[in-house]
Amino acid sequence: MRILIMGPPGAGKGTQAARIASFCEIPHISTGDIFRTEIKESSELGKKIKSYLDTGKLVPDEVTVMVIKKRLQQPDCSRGFLLDGFPRTIPQAEALDGILIGLSKNRLDLVINISVDAQVLLERLTGRRVCRNCGDTYHILYQPPQKDEICDRCGGDLYQRSDDTAETVSNRLDVYQRQTAPLLEYYQKRDIVQEVNGELSIDQVFKEIEKVIRSID
Ligand SMILES: [Zn+2]
Repeated sequence: MRILIMGPPGAGKGTQAARIASFCEIPHISTGDIFRTEIKESSELGKKIKSYLDTGKLVPDEVTVMVIKKRLQQPDCSRGFLLDGFPRTIPQAEALDGILIGLSKNRLDLVINISVDAQVLLERLTGRRVCRNCGDTYHILYQPPQKDEICDRCGGDLYQRSDDTAETVSNRLDVYQRQTAPLLEYYQKRDIVQEVNGELSIDQVFKEIEKVIRSID
């Protein structure tokens, strides 16, 4: 089975991706993970990727496409794969089609889109608090400290990172929405997109996904 998983930041995509990969016994291919590994190993590719990220630039498509192509050639992809974080745009989706044809593999079977209401995402993503002293993290809704704004572990002050403010988070969500809407449409035309309600619990979301996968197998 060849699957792409999509979902906005805060939708729990990473958690579900790990479960899908083990359920279907296919590799979970995350461009973010591959980039981090290459950077850690200081490979030629890693150095290149780091130079883009250090200057605040996006990694260009030709680099990402090369990385994915190399990964899909590995023997563990013979039974299928789960893509996460690629493709993000229509040119990337077209490049993926080209790669799969080049490797004599079929096109994607399924696109799982985890959808969560923007307000819920905002609550999830802006609730994080970090201890100034020891770095422990909390969530005001899901994992609150015993005393407001005080770290349970060391008594330090908790604060909200600038990445987690409502303004930054709304911007990130807007960018995601704008970027992925055309991609979803691209796959909807092929009739392979399945929406899953990401507002349910982690277990319930996975049950929904399992149903979708079984319906295709
Ligand atoms: Zn602390």
